[in-house]
Amino acid sequence: MALKEYVRDIQDFPKKGIIFKDITPLLNSPEGTKECLSILMENLKNKKIDKVIGVESRGFFFATLLAHELNVGFVPVRKPGKLPFTTISASYELEYGSDNLEIHTDAIKKGDKVLIHDDVLATGGTAKAVCELVEKLGGEIVQLNFLMELRFLNGREKIKPYDIFAAMEY
Ligand code: AMP
Repeated sequence: MALKEYVRDIQDFPKKGIIFKDITPLLNSPEGTKECLSILMENLKNKKIDKVIGVESRGFFFATLLAHELNVGFVPVRKPGKLPFTTISASYELEYGSDNLEIHTDAIKKGDKVLIHDDVLATGGTAKAVCELVEKLGGEIVQLNFLMELRFLNGREKIKPYDIFAAMEY
């Protein structure tokens, strides 16, 4: 089965005008999950990675699988107030206003080679904020990978200098 067949479009969720890309059928399928993971891994061949970052919350699923495959540590980037230890934060734009993302200050060491993972690359604001967090801690971004990229939103413009890979494109 093609990977896209495991992604379900939900019209007008969480609000009118949005087509939500539901990955729960993918997560519910061992074959789909395996296939998706192997595509992401294939594009990391010969890259040295020390840490994998997953972005709250749907980025956590595959980021932990990738960290396990690569035999490196997993680092969560979370919404404000969720991480218990000392954090730094970066803000990103929402449709109305802005929000913040946080990371533990000891999660990445200076010079660490970092893979950033999230489920969807849409406008790129979230990914850009995560890049800021990694670089504030002295990490080196090796790649940003996504389950899918919504190309019509042009998110990659915001994270242009980096290596970007998506397993599916819309
Ligand atoms: P953005 O900052 O606009 O690139 O949005 C990326 C974040 O929003 C990701 O963490 C996604 O989980 C979520 N997201 C944005 N658009 C969608 C969508 N159409 N379907 C599912 N998740 C989305």
